[in-house]
Amino acid sequence: MSGSPTGEVYRIDWLPGTDVLHGTCHCGREHTSQDPIKMWEWMLAHPNGHEPQGHDS
Ligand SMILES: [Zn+2]
Repeated sequence: MSGSPTGEVYRIDWLPGTDVLHGTCHCGREHTSQDPIKMWEWMLAHPNGHEPQGHDS
């Protein structure tokens, strides 16, 4: 794998004009929430609630 020298990378942006936070986990999963605490809980709960991409069950 290339890139990601620092390992885990999280990103949280505020959607302009809304109260909605949009977060992207280092695993690539995206999540939206109006509650910053719940957003961080989702982030830190990885991999719980972070379904693997490209896997249909
Ligand atoms: Zn994740």
